[in-house]
Amino acid sequence: MTTHKDLIDRDRKVTFHASTHLRDFAQGDAPGRVITGGKGINIVDKDGREFIDGFAGLYCVNIGYGRSEVAEAIYQQALEMSYYHTYVGHSNEPQIALSEKILELAGPGMSKVYYGMSGSDANETQLKIVRYYNNVLGRPQKKKVISRMRGYHGSGIASGSLTGLKAFHDHFDLPIETIRHTEAPYYYHRAAEQEGMSEREFSKHCATKLEEMILAEGPDTVAAFIGEPVLGTGGIVPPPEGYWDEIQAVLAKYDVLLIADEVVCGFGRTGSEFGSHHYGIKPDLITIAKGLTSAYQPLSGVIVGDRVWNVLEQGTGEYGPIGHGWTYSGHALGCAAGLANLQIIEREGLTANAANTGAYLQERLQATFGDHPVVGNVRGVGMMGALEFAADPAKRQHFDPSLKVGPRMSAAALEQNLIARAMPQGDILGFAPPLTTTRAEVDEIVARTRKAVDKVTDELTREGALQTA
Ligand code: PLP
Repeated sequence: MTTHKDLIDRDRKVTFHASTHLRDFAQGDAPGRVITGGKGINIVDKDGREFIDGFAGLYCVNIGYGRSEVAEAIYQQALEMSYYHTYVGHSNEPQIALSEKILELAGPGMSKVYYGMSGSDANETQLKIVRYYNNVLGRPQKKKVISRMRGYHGSGIASGSLTGLKAFHDHFDLPIETIRHTEAPYYYHRAAEQEGMSEREFSKHCATKLEEMILAEGPDTVAAFIGEPVLGTGGIVPPPEGYWDEIQAVLAKYDVLLIADEVVCGFGRTGSEFGSHHYGIKPDLITIAKGLTSAYQPLSGVIVGDRVWNVLEQGTGEYGPIGHGWTYSGHALGCAAGLANLQIIEREGLTANAANTGAYLQERLQATFGDHPVVGNVRGVGMMGALEFAADPAKRQHFDPSLKVGPRMSAAALEQNLIARAMPQGDILGFAPPLTTTRAEVDEIVARTRKAVDKVTDELTREGALQTA
């Protein structure tokens, strides 16, 4: 019989893993794990060990694991018509029905959907659309895109450039020339530096910084701004009060397009259909992936708003057919999975559950960790939350990064058979369980987290790392 260890040893020889110390993994010095099953919010590994997946994979398995209805939809579609390309006007029934559903959910002003396989490639499409748009309008110099520090938009050459995390740039010669990064809407960090600044004032400050950047670059060179309604991988940071209103006012003033990257927020995670609806954002372009299929198939998309669509149409009138496309765009199996997934979200009221049970998750995290000696900030919205650790919470004093407090917290949670993600920058433990999560499951997630955080707190106390001690 093949053991878990056999599989991991074979994997070490042949597979290249993301965000992994490649040499340590290949040499057996970094852990591996083979996942073999999942049901509801739980996954199981080859040893039969079961974990609560408090992060829904990578905040994508919104309907939970093991939904036979989606498997059946994929199977039936594969039997009937597994694939045909969607170039030059070819289509398939699931693609048509899924696009209709997405546009219905996105609301007025949104015109068309173009599909990809990942959030990264969807953002590559966005950047090409933005360039094309300004070329058609006779503004070839209007090409720069402003993203935000701590934003996450993928890891390709262009999408990785949009990402505002150092680890995704260093040693890859990124970002590329036309991408800029403005201040992150990270009130907790800023409030630490500037005592007394209100959230609203901070939002205004972020908008002022954006405006200064647009003016310094030259408004006629700035094409678009991209942002996640809630910063995800950068730390699970809901925007400060009034942030999106302030930002949108600046963008309108300088005729800068707004791309809402809804890869995480889309399809219910914030407790609204889209994060844009939650925060009153009126984007020109929307990026979707993850919750679109709950990861039962790889599928992403860009939703193009009327304003941009009209110019794209005009462009092909002048230049001929658009020179963009992926072999797997509108893949019939992906679209079939997407349709079945969105039907489940609607039928089971999972967006409302993300709002209601999500509010309970926020309340439990706050009640359990609000006064904890190593927790500086508890935050979240809907079915996503975060604990940010601090050596001195009152002074918002970070831990020394060499202590690796975030990864240690995540490892301690794993000992409790709970997956909570150490976010890549800062000592932050992130939660984004499936939208099906119940109150009882929230209680279990919080109870296991408490044990993990207390264990690491004891270790840190013994190490003399707590500045309040
Ligand atoms: N955009 C956001 C907001 C994301 O969180 C991610 C992935 O986490 C991406 C884009 C990239 O998606 P993918 O990993 O599917 O390329």
